[in-house]
Amino acid sequence: MLAVVFSIYLPQMSLGHEFGAGAACLKCKDKCEGFELHFWRKICRNCKCGLTEHDVQMNTEENKKVGKLFEDTKFTGLIAKLKTDGLPGYPGSMVTITLPNAPMKSVTYEWAPPVPNKHLAVRYIQLLPPEKRPVAGTEGAVYRRQQMARQLPEHDQDPSKCHELSPAEVKKMQQYVRKYKEEALGVGDVLLPAEMAHVQAVRQGGGVAGAGGKPGSALKSFSCHHCQQPMQQGEPAVYAERAGYDKLWHPACFVCRTCNELLVDMIYFWKKGNMYCGRHYGDSEKPRCGGCDELIFSNEYTQAEGQNWHLKHFCCFDCDCILAGETYVMENDKPICRPCYMKNYAVKCSSCQTAVDPEAQRVSYDALHWHAQPQCFKCSGCSKGLIGQRFMVVQGFVFCSVECKKKILN
Ligand SMILES: [Zn+2]
Ligand SMILES: [Zn+2]
Ligand SMILES: [Zn+2]
Ligand SMILES: [Zn+2]
Ligand SMILES: [Zn+2]
Ligand SMILES: [Zn+2]
Ligand SMILES: [Zn+2]
Ligand SMILES: [Zn+2]
Repeated sequence: MLAVVFSIYLPQMSLGHEFGAGAACLKCKDKCEGFELHFWRKICRNCKCGLTEHDVQMNTEENKKVGKLFEDTKFTGLIAKLKTDGLPGYPGSMVTITLPNAPMKSVTYEWAPPVPNKHLAVRYIQLLPPEKRPVAGTEGAVYRRQQMARQLPEHDQDPSKCHELSPAEVKKMQQYVRKYKEEALGVGDVLLPAEMAHVQAVRQGGGVAGAGGKPGSALKSFSCHHCQQPMQQGEPAVYAERAGYDKLWHPACFVCRTCNELLVDMIYFWKKGNMYCGRHYGDSEKPRCGGCDELIFSNEYTQAEGQNWHLKHFCCFDCDCILAGETYVMENDKPICRPCYMKNYAVKCSSCQTAVDPEAQRVSYDALHWHAQPQCFKCSGCSKGLIGQRFMVVQGFVFCSVECKKKILN
């Protein structure tokens, strides 16, 4: 009977867990046997690093994810209409750009702004910091891929990528996704400010001359909404429909307010006058679980160590046992249960060689530790207990006096 039940549930449990399986970890090298997704944390079971630390070719998945993000959104804006490729179809794959006036200068980008004017696209990329330019095969391409995973978590947009949501949680999440698609989500446009001024003038009903002084003068200032510095004459700027076309950004200034990273592929979330990446917009709206990294749509959750947690996810990072009501220790910002702590992290007493309990009193000197008990922290010469006494440490031994030291080390 049990076997039958499992054969029904197993395929569901592994939903979405096949992607990236077996990929080598770039950080742990051969210490990781290959990527294997933890059943609810978004990390590798073998080495505990994230998917982006593993050598996964993410392009098709990325494009699917971003395509889905823009599904059901309306890009009726003026600029979108001008686009030859027409969003929301997402062109996020490799582009090789050869500029007609610069022979031999053909460069492949993992992404470039989808504008018809290739010079503008290339100039936009040149205005980014060198280590963030999405040139294929460079650290900039790796940076973009990592930011893609970090800024736009799939589990912030797709309930099927979340772990065991209740029907009520699924409903709340769908409402949340609908809300940000209606109110916040957008993608930047790259234009010359002069071009934009022209487009705006045309839009304002006919001739530039007849538009009246006001909108024209507002566009004259051309200073960046992020750094307030002026735009350079003839250089491309980033515009965001949600923010209004009276605002513009230097390409390198189109960043998330919280993490200050370049908004990946210019995908932004606009809220109360600020730009956010998807992750930090989510954080501004909902608590995020420190265990599974998903936004929390349940009314019940717990706060511990300055983070929020699904009740079932405040678990030991090593063995996944639930920690509610248990003693735990924070190691590298991860909660660890007492048995795992004693086994894997606890310092050993230099005298009795057993682990020192996290709650036990201890004496520490440089890298040496002892139970704070007379039978452990004692003179190596005369065995006198040294708690609260003067002592000296020589070659890993503790002594009460020079005399005792001479007895042992001569
Ligand atoms: Zn790893
Ligand atoms: Zn791994
Ligand atoms: Zn700026
Ligand atoms: Zn951010
Ligand atoms: Zn969780
Ligand atoms: Zn544990
Ligand atoms: Zn001891
Ligand atoms: Zn002594």
